[in-house]
Amino acid sequence: MSYDRNNIFAKILRKEIPCDKIYENDHVLAFKDINPQAKIHVLVIPKGAYVNMDDFSQNAKNDEIVALTRALGEVTKIVGLSSYSEGKGYRYIGNNGPDGGQEVPHLHFHIIGGEPLGRMVSKK
Ligand code: 5GP
Repeated sequence: MSYDRNNIFAKILRKEIPCDKIYENDHVLAFKDINPQAKIHVLVIPKGAYVNMDDFSQNAKNDEIVALTRALGEVTKIVGLSSYSEGKGYRYIGNNGPDGGQEVPHLHFHIIGGEPLGRMVSKK
């Protein structure tokens, strides 16, 4: 699986383009989506060069996998969606590949919430 070093999230990680940062640790960066689909919409990405979850789950180091999982929980707290902050819930979305609707070929999770989100999938 080849990684495109010129994808937009790689450029954000290299600080070639700015982002509205929410959270960062050694292995993870989280920032606001530029085109939010709900009141709160944050992207959580590993700093390592992984195309998607297939790549990450097979090739990431345990430290990276733990850090990403912890970061997902931490970010929901920071933005006030977690049950630990009495939030009303949220949705994770991880789009993988063409049928999954993945546009940026660097693994990312969407954390979306702040309002009722409706059904999980609507086919068009
Ligand atoms: P995908 O469809 O690949 O799962 O989602 C990619 C997401 O990246 C989209 O929600 C899109 O709005 C977001 N996005 C694309 N370019 C940028 C950018 O330059 N900055 C930020 N913050 N988000 C971006």
